[in-house]
Amino acid sequence: MNISNNPFSANGINYSPAEKPIVVICIDGSADEYLDTTMAFDRMPNLKKMATSGYRGMVRGALPSFTNVNNSSIVTGVSPAVHGISGNFFYDADKDQEVMMNSAEYLRAETLLAAASNAGRKVAVVTAKEKLRDILSHKMKGIAFSAEKANQAKRETHGIDNVEEVTGHKTPAIYSGDASLFVLRAGIALIEKGLADFLYLSLTDYMQHTYSPEAEESLAFYEAMDTEIGKLLQLGAIVGATADHGMNSKIKPDGSPNVLFVEDMLEEKFGNGFRVICPITDPYVKHHGALGSYVVVHINDKSIINDVKNWLAIQPGITEVHDKVTATRLLEQPEDRTGDLVVLSARDVVVGRRPQYHDLSALDSTLRSHGGRYEEMVPMIISHPLNAAYKIKAAADPRNFDIFDFTINGTN
Ligand SMILES: [Zn+2]
Repeated sequence: MNISNNPFSANGINYSPAEKPIVVICIDGSADEYLDTTMAFDRMPNLKKMATSGYRGMVRGALPSFTNVNNSSIVTGVSPAVHGISGNFFYDADKDQEVMMNSAEYLRAETLLAAASNAGRKVAVVTAKEKLRDILSHKMKGIAFSAEKANQAKRETHGIDNVEEVTGHKTPAIYSGDASLFVLRAGIALIEKGLADFLYLSLTDYMQHTYSPEAEESLAFYEAMDTEIGKLLQLGAIVGATADHGMNSKIKPDGSPNVLFVEDMLEEKFGNGFRVICPITDPYVKHHGALGSYVVVHINDKSIINDVKNWLAIQPGITEVHDKVTATRLLEQPEDRTGDLVVLSARDVVVGRRPQYHDLSALDSTLRSHGGRYEEMVPMIISHPLNAAYKIKAAADPRNFDIFDFTINGTN
C-alpha cells in the first residue's frame, strides 16, 4: 500500500503523518470506568497492550459534553467557540426560532479530515449515527457513511457503493452494540482493501446510556470492541482512541430520573418570560429523553439576569451557573449560539425544560446521561509511545480534540 506522508495543516495546527494507516476512534460515551472495569476483568487484552506499550491518560473534552459538540472538536482540533457547534439545538433570538445545528452549514472551521484528503491521504469517516455524517465529512474527498444507513451509501454522495459487500456486514440496528462494532469492522475492511489509510471511526453510546460499566452487557461489548481494535493493530495502524464525553447515572435512590425542570422552576419563582433550551435534544430519544446536565436559559427581561443567576446557583443539584460572557470564555462557547445563562447540574442530576418536553417512557429502563462537568474528563489511549514533546503536552491540559495531533505528531 502506497501511503502519503505529505504534511498538512488545519485551523493553525500542523500534522506530519507517518506512512502507516492512522485510525482515530471516538468511543462514544466511554467514561474511563468502562475501560478500567473491563481491563480489570482481563477482557481488553489489546487495549491493555496499547496502554502499557503506548500511552494511556485522561484528557478534557469540550463543553457541553455532548456528542456532536465533541465530534466537531475532534475533526477540527478546536473548541466550540471556534467551530460553532455548541449542541444539537440553539435558540436564534433574532429569528425567534429554535434551530437544529446537525449540519455542516453551521460549522465555522475547516476539518483536518478534509485537509488530509487534500494532502493525498485516503480518508474515510465511518460514524454509527447518520446525524454526524454531514459535519464530519464536510468538504472531504473520500469515503463517509454511517452504520445506521450503510445500505444507502452511494459512490456519488458517500464515496463508496455496496457497503454491506465491501465490509462483509449487514446494516445494524442503531439501538445496539452492533452499530458501534460495525463501525470498527468497516474501518478494518477499508484498510484491508486499500480503500482508506486515514480513518475517523465514531461509535455510538447506546450501550453506555443503557448499561453501567460493571454490567455483563458492557463487559461483553468492550471485549468485542477490543477484538476489532486488535485487528487494526495487526494491520500496522497507529491507533488513537478517546471519547466525546463520559456517562453517569442520573437517578434517585428509588431508580426514578433525578430531574430539575428549570423552566418550571423559574416561572414559579419569577413569573413567565423564560425559555430553556436543552441542547442534547435530538431524534434519538431512546437514549436519554432529551435530558442532560447542561441547559441554556434565555430571559426576556435582561434586567433580572443577575438575580436569576444568583437564585439558580443556590438550588440543590445545580453546580454551575454562568452568564454569557463567562460561558463564552470559560466554557468556550460561540457567543451568538449560547443564552443569557448556562446551567450545569451535579453528577447524578439532569436538567430539563418542563415535563411535557421530555418523554421519559421512551427510556430503556434507567437514565444514564451526560452533558455537564462530570462527563468532561475522558480517556485517551495511543497505540505507540509518545515522543518527548508530547509527553510534556500529555502532562499539561490535553484535550480530547487533540487526539489527531497526539496520534499523528506525538508518535513520530
Ligand atoms: Zn456521545
